[in-house]
Parts: sequence; structure tokens; C-alpha cells
Amino acid sequence: MSLNPAARQRHILELLDAHRSLTIQELTAALGVSAMTVHRDLNRLVDSGQLAKTRGGAALPARANSHASAAGACAMCNRAVPERSAVILQGPERGRLTACCPHCGLALFEHDTSAGLMLVTDFLYGQMVSANDASYLLGSSVSSCCTPGILAFVGRDDAERFQRGFGGEVMSFARVRQYLLSTMSISPMMLT
Ligand SMILES: [Zn+2]
Ligand SMILES: [Zn+2]
Repeated sequence: MSLNPAARQRHILELLDAHRSLTIQELTAALGVSAMTVHRDLNRLVDSGQLAKTRGGAALPARANSHASAAGACAMCNRAVPERSAVILQGPERGRLTACCPHCGLALFEHDTSAGLMLVTDFLYGQMVSANDASYLLGSSVSSCCTPGILAFVGRDDAERFQRGFGGEVMSFARVRQYLLSTMSISPMMLT
């Protein structure tokens, strides 16, 4: 899968929002395009005042660039739900629950096995997919609301590309569930 320039530039801003500052090399690996393409995108974004170029990379301008969320608070940790990582659970007992990221989404899922449906947001493209079909990148250096951070991707190749740029471990739904079950110690706010 490849992004058109507008989508790619939007995604560069999202990555920077999560990461504050990135090198050309990291952006090249994350986006799967040439360094020249990254430079061209960065110049566009600098020209339009959305970005500051740094030595060998890019950073968001000093002013805060917050993405206010319309999705409300996470049912697990009560943090705001970022659009790029939102998780939705739907079940007969509790109706529709929203979580801030796959980390909280999976924890909620374990507490409420009646949830018949869980959807995660693809970190790269923003579309929602069945959690079961997604690939997960656990513990990368992309900062996220919860630790360890878990990013969801529709394509395993995308997850692996991010892994090359930002580290971490690529896991299937089953593997990441297993991992979280073995480390989980907190209780969701909703259920206490
Ligand atoms: Zn949460
Ligand atoms: Zn979270």
C-alpha cells in the first residue's frame, strides 16, 4: 500500500504529533518512501508553516498542536480518546464502549468477554478494522497514551515497516492478547 502525497503529509504530522521529533531516516522507514520524497513532503509542510525542519529531520512548531477528541473518554483509563488509535467494543451487555488505544481496548475486551465486536483504528490509514484481523506493534518508540504502546495496522507489512523505523515487536491479535493477559494488573474504571 502506498499513500498519496496529501495523505503522506498528513501522516507525517500525525507521527510528529506522537513523537515530537523524527529523523529523515525514521520517516523514510515509517512511510516506505525514498529520502527524497520525504524531503519534498517536509518542504511542503515547512512552506505551509505546519512544520519546522531540524538538522536531519523534522519537528512540530513550538506551539501546541493538540488533536481534541470528539470520542470522549476511554472506558478503561478515562484518558481522552485520540482519533488515530481509538478502539470500539460493542456487546449486548454494556453496549458500545470506546478505548483510547489497543492497549486499553484489549484490556477491556478481557474484562468483558460479552463484547462480540471489537474494532481498532489502523494507525497509518485511520480506517477501522476488526481487531482480530489487525497486526499489532507492541512497545515501539512511537509514544502513545498507554505503556507499553500498542499500534494497530491492517497490513502486517505496515506493522513491520514501523517496526524497522521505531522498534518493538509485531504480533497477531492472539499473541498480543496473550501478552497483555500475562501483564495485566489494572481494573477498568467502568467495572469497579
Ligand atoms: Zn485508555
Ligand atoms: Zn491508551
